[in-house]
Amino acid sequence: MPDFADKVAVVTGGGRGIGRAVALLAARRGWRVCLSYVSDAGAAEAVVAAIAAEGGQAEAVRADVGDEADIGTLFAAADRLGTVAGLVNNAGVVDVAARLDAMEAPRLHRMMATNVVGSLLCAREAVRRMSTRHGGRGGGIVNLSSVAARLGGAGQYVDYAASKGAIDSFTRGLAREVAEEGIRVNAVAPGIIDTEIHASGGQPDRARALAPQIPMRRPGTAEEIAGPVVWLLSEEAAYTTGAILEVTGGR
Ligand code: NAP
Repeated sequence: MPDFADKVAVVTGGGRGIGRAVALLAARRGWRVCLSYVSDAGAAEAVVAAIAAEGGQAEAVRADVGDEADIGTLFAAADRLGTVAGLVNNAGVVDVAARLDAMEAPRLHRMMATNVVGSLLCAREAVRRMSTRHGGRGGGIVNLSSVAARLGGAGQYVDYAASKGAIDSFTRGLAREVAEEGIRVNAVAPGIIDTEIHASGGQPDRARALAPQIPMRRPGTAEEIAGPVVWLLSEEAAYTTGAILEVTGGR
């Protein structure tokens, strides 16, 4: 991927948690950042302001990744900001802990629409812009998987784990599909990271409670995921594609 000056990274769910840390670090590394949010406009605008305060360029767009029209709006804003050369498929949801025999269909549809279909549609938009086959200049896509794809989430969220398993397959397949077209596709699979996602699954203390089960005896930070994500977007990772990098403190 050529390292050009007006390169834009689209970061879905860039207002909070891991996405926020990715947006801030990418901007420090010279990316213009187009970040999306769905509910927390204040948090997203605060990230834009923080990037601007450091001399970077960023824009926040309300865009539900489960909605194809919203994704069009997000990428149209990214096109106005510069040349789309990076995508971080970070937006993702969990739900309250439950066994599969207690899950209803709307939960499963929402999980797959946000975590899987949303990521596929954003990647489609990225490929249409980055691929040399479409006249693009190349780029990088990084998907947020989870160690849950390997562990399975038994008794808690097999639906979430399955959605991340789909992300892993999609990462490997798309990487091969567009390898000759200047696009690299990789995933980062975090372990337990201290963000608000656990509260949204009804377990605000989950990250700290699980610390004894982690070989490093602590949850990770959003910044400890942002580093590998932004590295995978960078030229330093020029020969890395189809990789799924576990960042788990040894779990
Ligand atoms: P988080 O703190 O809950 O933040 C989630 C972000 O995604 C928010 O910015 C939210 O937007 C956005 N979002 C949610 N639904 C969306 C939708 N339909 N459309 C667009 N944006 C949406 O989560 P996180 O912990 O940073 O997790 C980020 C990613 O890492 C997820 O894919 C997650 O599965 C993965 N991951 C996290 C962990 C962990 O332990 N934290 C572990 C493994 C993998 P608003 O701010 O507008 O609500």
